[in-house]
Amino acid sequence: METSYRNLNLPVRTLLGPGPSNVHPRVYRAMTTPVLGHMDPKFLEVMDEMMELLRFVFQTRNTITLAIPGTGSAGMEAALVNLIEPGDGVLVGVNGYFGERLSAMASRHGAEVRRVEAPWGQIVEPDQIERALAARRAKLVAVVHAETSTGVLQPIKPIADACHRHGALLLVDAVTSLGGSPVPADEWGADVCFSCTQKGLSAPPGLAPITVSDRAVAVTSSRRSPVQSWYLDLSLITKYWGSDRVYHHTAPITMLYALREALCLVHEEGLEPRWRRHQALSNALIAGLNALGLPILAPESHRAPTLTVARIPEGVKDIAVRTTLLSEHNLEIGGGLGALKGQVWRIGLMGESCTQANVLLVLSALESALGRQGWRREKGAGVMAALEALA
Ligand SMILES: *Cc1c(COP(=O)(O)O)cnc(C)c1O
Repeated sequence: METSYRNLNLPVRTLLGPGPSNVHPRVYRAMTTPVLGHMDPKFLEVMDEMMELLRFVFQTRNTITLAIPGTGSAGMEAALVNLIEPGDGVLVGVNGYFGERLSAMASRHGAEVRRVEAPWGQIVEPDQIERALAARRAKLVAVVHAETSTGVLQPIKPIADACHRHGALLLVDAVTSLGGSPVPADEWGADVCFSCTQKGLSAPPGLAPITVSDRAVAVTSSRRSPVQSWYLDLSLITKYWGSDRVYHHTAPITMLYALREALCLVHEEGLEPRWRRHQALSNALIAGLNALGLPILAPESHRAPTLTVARIPEGVKDIAVRTTLLSEHNLEIGGGLGALKGQVWRIGLMGESCTQANVLLVLSALESALGRQGWRREKGAGVMAALEALA
């Protein structure tokens, strides 16, 4: 008997996890634009526009500002592999799951990794980096801006200053911050900064925006050995995105249309209003979670507006609550990663997902699901606290 497959028929969810976030209808529409050849002059124009739009979101004038095929991790790997030669000293700030990933990747590419650690839920103190650099020089310092396992927002400027004082390059993982909170690559003086499409920019996953300073380009062009990865070699990728237009890989045309439209939406909203929207709604969410009796993991002074991590109350079952949210409210939130598995929820308010309606939805759905497990507060407490914070 012949097997036949039905049409895809999947639910529409509200995506309030750590990514992906909800996609704007205009972005879906852009994805139905006819595919052109990757060397078509009309498509090359689209790439030029994309570079302008990416410079706009990264607040940079860096020539090398483009989008690599692959997700945020491809951006991470590209950033590391282009700057690291085997034996190079690399300092990595590790205060969560993605700091661990940076450290693991840097080791694989042959770096001599020194970890500068802080407890999960705390920032890496810029002083720790300064002291580590003073004790022994490093070629590169790598840190995560918004640590998606803990919701901590790392101050970057003082770390960048320490790097400049000690002649080290600075790599910043802006995967969960770009499009939701300021990522001023030039003002920081970051040498390489990368992100993804599916979090603050609200396009589907599949590309990694990246920007590279002239200083970092100079370092990569004087390498003793070729970049360990052929596919992620930025000098080759740049020959395609730059004026040479030399074929390197077939650009993921449809994904680039999607990212272009998502970036247009950011441009139309404006960076400052967009950051204000994320901050105001994140404040409202936190007020609501506190009213429901869920403490926030990150200290008040260092919270990422795009992602809030709250402790699960004693006696409440993680999976049961998240299953209820998904099956009864079509609502996704994230569970804990690594050491925080089963102990926290990660609630993202990123890009298109960051709306007042979604804040009120997640608070009311949580109140109801928590109530079934015997965790009760005054009726409507979470929603009321959020509304008051917004008033
Ligand atoms: C999501 C994330 C990544 C990895 O991105 P993928 O798109 O999942 O590959 C890297 N760093 C941080 C901080 C993230 O939040």
